[in-house]
Amino acid sequence: MIILGSGPAALTAAVYTTRGNMNTLVIAGSQYGGQLMLTTEVENYPGFPQGVQGPDLMDMMIKQAERFNAEFIYDDATDVDFKSRPFKVFKGEDVYEGRTIVVATGASARWLGLESEKRLLGRGVSSCATCDGHFFKDKDVLVVGGGDSAMEEALFLSRMVNSIRMIHRRDELRASKIMQDRVVENSKIDFIWDSVVVEILGEQKVSGAVIENVKTAEKTELECDGVFVAIGHKPNTAFLKGKLELDRKGYIKVQDHTKTSVEGVFVGGDVHDYRYRQAVTAAGFGCMAGMDAEKWLEEQAQGDWPRIS
Ligand code: NAP
Repeated sequence: MIILGSGPAALTAAVYTTRGNMNTLVIAGSQYGGQLMLTTEVENYPGFPQGVQGPDLMDMMIKQAERFNAEFIYDDATDVDFKSRPFKVFKGEDVYEGRTIVVATGASARWLGLESEKRLLGRGVSSCATCDGHFFKDKDVLVVGGGDSAMEEALFLSRMVNSIRMIHRRDELRASKIMQDRVVENSKIDFIWDSVVVEILGEQKVSGAVIENVKTAEKTELECDGVFVAIGHKPNTAFLKGKLELDRKGYIKVQDHTKTSVEGVFVGGDVHDYRYRQAVTAAGFGCMAGMDAEKWLEEQAQGDWPRIS
């Protein structure tokens, strides 16, 4: 079988399929490890009472899959052929064949694209309040964005931080009315309208940000301890367009737990789940997809297919 991706969903699927004695190839991507490679301390993954660094957690998951003989290719799949059997996955000129596939290529947070944002990522810049909010107890933070995600991030943060300023590039929110109302009623949250963050300040950690009013071009320096960027996510499905059924935003449509529109191709993690987006939920979905793929393959072969000797 072939697993596409190398975040918690893909690697959990690999642990299950290899332990089920399936010959498993993981096409891990050139930037392996998924979104946890961009975080520092992870405190909400069960089993680590003292917390664990995101990249360390991913290295452990890879070692766990390797222990049961999963094979890894650290490159991006560029195309797939899900019409013929066995299924084909392409990496440029190279072709890999699998009787069944688990797609777990995840989603990427959208970023502002600033050099300072990249430099201070995990040092006060975050795209996940659930993951990192705890580190900002009684601190002052900015949340960038005007959609439901930004409202949700701000509401979550308001339980622990001292103050939140929402930076939105327009004077009208995109978020649903109910979420807007909750944010407006929250005394810890203020809005700065018609503004974009043009620079995040700080050497070792965030100390402030420069924002620019898009109508007046006036720039203002704000002091803050954290910047939460909540301007949406993008599922990593560009190479699957026309090959699997996707929703309007490009997430893989899932049916009956982990099935996709193509029989024998399963899905797990943030590439279909835009609701929970947690390492632990992705791992759970990966487990489900791996088990379903194995069961499906066994049913196809009626117990008579070559396993690893
Ligand atoms: P979204 O609805 O696409 O909103 C993204 C926001 O970020 C918009 O306000 C947009 O501004 C802003 N933005 C985009 N690019 C930007 C940039 N480069 N610089 C500054 N601002 C930028 O994304 P989302 O909030 O992640 O929501 C995605 C979907 O999930 C939506 O359908 C949403 O309803 C759903 N969702 C629901 C809930 C809930 O109900 N609890 C929670 C989270 C998400 P503009 O408005 O000017 O375009």
